[in-house]
Order: sequence, then C-alpha cells, then structure tokens
Amino acid sequence: MKFVLLFLSLFAPLLAGAPTGSVLNVPDAPTVVLDVGHGGTDRGARAHLPYCEEKKLCLLTARLVRQYLEQLGYHVVMTRNTDAFLPLAKRVEIASQAQASIFVSVHFNSSRSVEAQGIEVFFHDSSDNRLRARASHKLADTILNRIIRRTCASSRGVKKGNFYVIRETSMPAVLVEGGFISNKEERCLLKTRDYQEKLARGIADGVDQYFKARKVVRKVR
Ligand SMILES: [Zn+2]
Repeated sequence: MKFVLLFLSLFAPLLAGAPTGSVLNVPDAPTVVLDVGHGGTDRGARAHLPYCEEKKLCLLTARLVRQYLEQLGYHVVMTRNTDAFLPLAKRVEIASQAQASIFVSVHFNSSRSVEAQGIEVFFHDSSDNRLRARASHKLADTILNRIIRRTCASSRGVKKGNFYVIRETSMPAVLVEGGFISNKEERCLLKTRDYQEKLARGIADGVDQYFKARKVVRKVR
C-alpha cells in the first residue's frame, strides 16, 4: 500500500498533464471515422466581417478531435485532411473500408435568422436497423452533452436528420453542427483557437464516454 502511495505521489504531477480518462489498449481500440464537412469547391456556409468558411472550420476542428482521440488511444481516420472536394458516397465508402466503429461528421450551421445560435447533433432514425439508430441516438446524446460542458454554448438538442452520410453509413453515425457561422457573435468565437479546442475536446470526450458506457453495459451483462 505504501508503495502504491509513493508511486502515486511521485508520478501524480506527470499524470496531471495527461488527457482525461484511461488510455486504451491500441490493438482493441475502436476506429473512429471523422468526416470533415465540405472541401474544395464546396465551401459550405460562409459569412463576412469577420470572414469565415465552413470547410476550413470543419478541417481545423476535426484535426483537433483526431489529436485528442489519438491521445486517448483510438484509431482515427479522417475522410479528408486537405482542402479537397469529396463526394458524399466516397465519405461513406471510406467509413466502410476502415471498418469504422462509429462515424462522426463535423459541420457548422447557417441560418437566415442572424439570431440563431448554439449546437445541435443529428442522427438518422433508420427503421430498418433499430440497433444502429439507438446507438446513434446515444452517441449524439453523449457528444452534445460533452460539447455543452466544454463550450457552455446553448444546446439546440439532439435531432433526427436525413443527411446522406448518416443515413447511408452502416455503423452508428452522427452529424455535429458545431455552431452558427451566420451569427456574428458565434462566428467570432468559432474562429478562435481556444473555442475550437473546447469544441474538439467536447466531441472527443463524448466519443470516449460513449465507448466507456458500452463497456460497462457489456460487463454488467
Ligand atoms: Zn455543412
């Protein structure tokens, strides 16, 4: 016991800098496919003063999510890591080839109402695969919850969506709308590295929480 306490007191300062949660064993770590919205000629939502493009924000955020998930021991595959156009079918194909355990698509929102703000997460309520729909719903819940904890943004809730990438994939899949580019206040926040880090941490926390909760369920059964 004494030895354990000594060990902890010696190494606690080192552990303090480590990411939250325990690191997974690499061979059995799940594969997370991060789908980076838009790209190339498809810029996604845009706004001026200050100028902001959705495709860039998606890439910056997804790169941070990848970094945090890799620190936790997950395998991560990004559908794009450059400013390239990528058809929707190709994104689904990448997820299937990677044998992804889950699929997380990163996007940012836009609305005619400049007041609209906050975060929402979509899943596809597929009637032909209830298990996948239930898991996707759970994943959407945990990710939204963790993003709100990290960013203190307002939650617009988990919603059912019929977007191609979350409908056509075969694993649990969600689409995160990480804030409104059309809202000036939120756009200014989204452009800061500090906020991008909070958002990305929230997504990574949510993914980690999703897998940890499943493990506990499996043990109980
Ligand atoms: Zn988008």
